[in-house]
Amino acid sequence: MDEEAKIPQATAKRLPLYYRFINNLYLQGKMRVSSKELSDAVKVDSATIRRDFSYFGALGKKGYGYNVEHLVSFFRKTLDQDETTEVALIGVGNLGTAFLNYNFMKNNNTKIVVAFDADKERVGQEVGGVPIEHIDDLEERMGNVSVAILTVPSQAAQGITDRLIGQGVSGILNFTPARITVPSDVRVHHIDLSVELQSLAYFLKHYPL
Ligand code: ATP
Repeated sequence: MDEEAKIPQATAKRLPLYYRFINNLYLQGKMRVSSKELSDAVKVDSATIRRDFSYFGALGKKGYGYNVEHLVSFFRKTLDQDETTEVALIGVGNLGTAFLNYNFMKNNNTKIVVAFDADKERVGQEVGGVPIEHIDDLEERMGNVSVAILTVPSQAAQGITDRLIGQGVSGILNFTPARITVPSDVRVHHIDLSVELQSLAYFLKHYPL
C-alpha cells in the first residue's frame, strides 16, 4: 500500500494502459522493451514514460530498455490483476446493455456480476450472462460489490448513489450527466459521453491539428 501511495495520480491513471501493452509483449515472449517502443504504442512521450517508470522502481538501461517480466509482475501486483473486482451496474438502458455485453475481462480483471433496473419487464432476464434485479432489491442483492457503474437517467443518480454508499460501495463510474455528491472516502469518476463528443468536435473546429 505504501509503495502505491507514492505513485502520483496522473501516473496511476496510465498504469492500465501500460499494463495492457506490456502484458501483450510478455505473452508474446518478449524479454525487453525500449521507452521509444512503449511511447509509440501507448502514445505517451518517452520522458513521461521514464518518469512514470521510475516510480515503479523500473529504471531502464541504455541500449537495453525495460525488463518486461519485472514490469508485468509489478503491474499485476499494483493493479490487483490477480484478484477480480466485482462490479454492479445500475440502469440497463442502451448504454447499460452495451456494458453488460462488453467483455471487460478481456483486458483487465473487472467483472459486472449483477445489474439493477426499475423496469419490471427487464427484471429476471439476463444480459451478457448478468442477471437483472429490481432496483428495490438493491440492498438485498448487491452482495459485497464495491464498485458500481451508473447508467440511469440523471434524476435517479443521487438517490441511487446514496443507497450504494449505504451498502459500502467505494467507487462509482458515473455515466449520467448529473454531478453526484459523495462522502470524501468515496471515489467518483465521471464520464459524460455527450460532453466528451462535443468537446472533441469543438477542439477539431477551433484548434485543428
Ligand atoms: P441510455 O441513457 O443508457 O441510452 P435509455 O435511453 O434506454 O438509456 P434511460 O431513460 O436513460 O434509457 O434509462 C436507462 C435505464 O435506467 C432504463 O433501463 C431505465 O429503466 C432505468 N431506470 C430509470 N430509472 C431508474 C431507477 N430509479 N433505478 C434503476 N433504474 C432506472
